[in-house]
Amino acid sequence: MNVPVWQPYFPYNALLCRYDEIGTKGKNRFAFEKRLWSELRRRLAALGEFSLIQERGRIFLVSKNPDAHFSPEDLLRLRREAPLIPGLASLSPGFMLEPELPAIESCVLTHFPALHAAFRRHHGDSPCTYAMRCRRSDKGFPMSSQEIEIYFAGKLCRQFPDMSIDLRQAKLQVGLEIRQNLAFVFFERISGAGGLPTGISGNVLALLSGGFDSPVACYQMMRRGCQLNYITFHSSPYTPPATLTKVADLARRLNTLQNPGRLLAVNLLPAQKAIRDLCSSRFRTLLYRRMMLRIASRAAAKLGDKALVTGDNLGQVASQTLENLAVIEEASSLMLIRPLVCADKWQTMKTAEEIGTWQLSSQDVPDSCTVFAPPDPATRTYLSKIKQEEEALDIELLLRQCLQDSCFIDPLDYSETPAELL
Ligand code: ATP
Ligand code: MG
Repeated sequence: MNVPVWQPYFPYNALLCRYDEIGTKGKNRFAFEKRLWSELRRRLAALGEFSLIQERGRIFLVSKNPDAHFSPEDLLRLRREAPLIPGLASLSPGFMLEPELPAIESCVLTHFPALHAAFRRHHGDSPCTYAMRCRRSDKGFPMSSQEIEIYFAGKLCRQFPDMSIDLRQAKLQVGLEIRQNLAFVFFERISGAGGLPTGISGNVLALLSGGFDSPVACYQMMRRGCQLNYITFHSSPYTPPATLTKVADLARRLNTLQNPGRLLAVNLLPAQKAIRDLCSSRFRTLLYRRMMLRIASRAAAKLGDKALVTGDNLGQVASQTLENLAVIEEASSLMLIRPLVCADKWQTMKTAEEIGTWQLSSQDVPDSCTVFAPPDPATRTYLSKIKQEEEALDIELLLRQCLQDSCFIDPLDYSETPAELL
């Protein structure tokens, strides 16, 4: 029952939000519902103020203004937003009514003809199929779900003789929920992002670059209930200011999908210079990465983040062989999560488009990793070899120098505040 493009406009007055996974979490359910509810309220704020009616596995949102209904723009916004709300299985805008047959009948018979007419306009003579799905939790209602479905099938099929019943794949679907204090009629179902509401699993720190992968990795973590802070590395003045504004733009976009997280910018240049001058050029990228993870681990401890997240993908670039990923990971003192490790590039690009980061990532801006990039990067190495290279470095000193040159960037106005991380 996903929203067909030909769906006509209806002046709906309420929303039915469904969640699946979180409904199964036993005594944590209340916390899960509370997170989802506060996230729904934040994300749908432009649609007005809602009161909440909670039922098992469902949340009804009813406009606080009894005369209000959703405008066509509201519905467009809803169709755009809902697929990106973690924890939400699906959502239906619909009509909230008194739980009585005359009210339900009047609603269905008033709106169904417009649905049928829109189908005919769009599909010409192709077969028109119909189904009603009724769920009734109020056992005091005088008819059973099946009796209600048969009752409306009889009425509507008589009124529209071109229509036949198809319970599995009907083109025209009517949904009806009957509860003790309300009935809800709907004609469409918009898929949510699924997963868990953001914030419920705890805080993590994401290594955010200007590429396509790391913003998608961030979104995957949000879908598993994490709240994210971001850390990015630049090499100013070898990288231009645009390196940072690009990442700030990505963080701003990502922050619309969760309670805003903080963006920490760290200048990696002191470490990069030392690596350039003191280590073999073939291992430069790996040594940069290990420094990034060490710095990120320290920052995470200060920010209260429990794990690090990267957009690494197995085999995508030279630094991402199994051997290299293992060598890089060893430098992290925190759990390192790589949500995209097995993702195909097209899948990542598709998600980047859906979450609105593709356009931002596609701008061509230099990345910190390309500073002093070697012509001959190692695709395979061993920890013992890398540790030997690192013996030439005063790692603790370099860590301190980089952390000293770090600041928080406000993604809304690019303003910088020194980050006291030492
Ligand atoms: P992305 O598209 O996310 O940049 P990528 O495919 O270009 O990823 P790499 O450049 O090898 O891959 O980076 C792997 C991961 O390391 C990134 O996804 C990101 O998490 C982290 N990373 C790389 N460069 C930076 C940086 N300058 N600042 C923060 N994190 C970085
Ligand atoms: Mg990159």
